[in-house]
Amino acid sequence: MVHLVGAPQPAEPTRKIIVVLVAGAKDHGPGEHDYPAWQQVWRELFALAENVRVETAEEWPSAEQFQSADVLVFYQHGTWTPQRALDMDAYFARGGGAVYIHYAVDGGEQSAEFARRIGLAWQGGRSKFRHGPLEVNFAAGTEHPIARNFDKVHFHDESYWQLVGERSRIALLASGVEDGEHQPLFWTAEPPKGRVFVSILGHYSWTFDDPLFRLLLLRGIAWAAREPVDRFLARHGLPVSVPAPPPRPPAGLGPTGLAAFRAYLDSPLPYRAFASSGDGLTGWAASPRAREEARRAALSFCQKDGRTCAIVAETIEIEDR
Ligand SMILES: [Zn+2]
Repeated sequence: MVHLVGAPQPAEPTRKIIVVLVAGAKDHGPGEHDYPAWQQVWRELFALAENVRVETAEEWPSAEQFQSADVLVFYQHGTWTPQRALDMDAYFARGGGAVYIHYAVDGGEQSAEFARRIGLAWQGGRSKFRHGPLEVNFAAGTEHPIARNFDKVHFHDESYWQLVGERSRIALLASGVEDGEHQPLFWTAEPPKGRVFVSILGHYSWTFDDPLFRLLLLRGIAWAAREPVDRFLARHGLPVSVPAPPPRPPAGLGPTGLAAFRAYLDSPLPYRAFASSGDGLTGWAASPRAREEARRAALSFCQKDGRTCAIVAETIEIEDR
């Protein structure tokens, strides 16, 4: 039995929840903004969980789903309209939860209205973005269950900033530095009676296979559904540190990166680190002794060919019980 450090023992009771995965048409190249692939894989993942019914929606949930869902997870190119506002306000008013990943925070012309519900929203022509290594700092979220035991994590994804909305409306979980300032990357918001969790990260498909990102997202989904954040742990039937079957490697990997990625996913060792050269995942190492040892090994592995690497994925401590 695996057990994440800090999780309540015994596990808290869970109730039956309905999770709706809302995707949309792809709007970027291979391995980026791949909403349909995400929906397919995460549907399989949630099908493994106890006490969960998983459903899917294209572009927008059905009227029935707005009535029945506990949490709507949006990964799509978002937009906001008066009709969507009516749907979501009614949904939040009955206690519904929502999760917005990456481009789902685009509010289009109505970004200020969207931001009133989710805290901060993207606005084309105003908001800024950067693809590349991100050092995500969870110092602001140490008291929040979603960010439990998170400190600083390196991802290779995309940040957004100069978003529309008021920072006083969000509970900040984590930030990254852009333009010399800390910019919100993960947060929660609470529109009247509702719950919202937002992840700005989610540009690249590989991010969704990063064990730490996966853990954050699962915790955020559980929290938005008003469930214990650990309800998706392996003991409840949903693996957080191994990929959904069948494994889906990040798109665009060469043979070396693919082999390394599969080894990474297959490793049963408690400390694992994976490095990226920026154009694909290239280095992997595991250590039974120390996290730092795994990180150093992963970096030196991919720096052999003179590439610059960043750690993109690590497991956190998992104890055998
Ligand atoms: Zn993006």
